Amino acid sequence: MTTPLSTDTKTDYENFSVTCPSCKFWNIFNRVTDLKTTTLITFREVMCEECKTIFAINGDNASEKWSYLLFECYDYLQSKRYMQCVLNTAQALEAFFYLAIKKKLLFDPRINQVIGNSEFNELSKKLYENIENNTCPDLYKIFKRLYYETINLDTKEKIIDVIKNIKKLGKDFDETITHVWKLRCRVGRKEAYRPTKEEAEKCIAFARKAIMKFAIDFKISTPIQFWPQGSLK
Ligand SMILES: [Zn+2]
Repeated sequence: MTTPLSTDTKTDYENFSVTCPSCKFWNIFNRVTDLKTTTLITFREVMCEECKTIFAINGDNASEKWSYLLFECYDYLQSKRYMQCVLNTAQALEAFFYLAIKKKLLFDPRINQVIGNSEFNELSKKLYENIENNTCPDLYKIFKRLYYETINLDTKEKIIDVIKNIKKLGKDFDETITHVWKLRCRVGRKEAYRPTKEEAEKCIAFARKAIMKFAIDFKISTPIQFWPQGSLK
């Protein structure tokens, strides 16, 4: 007997949710806790949490992190969770700028054989460590300097140097990014500010417009060979 397959699937950054083909119970499988993986689910047997039937799930969405975070905002808008909208929007921007920075400093140099595999792994770790505590406005500034200025990244040594001194690329005070970031700080910190629907919508619209523009202008996405192992088969 073949394993029944669920056809009704909803995926987001954290969860893989499906209807059980047997009892129609809506199962929410958390990727980390229940499925124990953060890679793309192409086929996986699971057990219904209600009737214990074994069935299979597939049809995952190979999206970039920023896209999950941003498009989840529309669910939050529906359920009037405007605070979460603002937090997700700022996080989507951060994820996008981090991806763009990685493209410039790691993916492109690796593809063009300026750095090898072991340097790629080592520098990925370094870049993450050096940028870990940087917030959205910092990442935006680094992104802008890397993409709009002529920073020479022709050799391994130059890349190592830029990554080492990445914090020096500084902060930026772009009005629109700052607007999202200020609102995010009000929501996410002590004040726990409750934004209005209009404020949340404005935030999402801005982030979406900015990300789409940069993504298209600079072809920013994760090249296939850099997706987590086993995620694309
Ligand atoms: Zn069931």
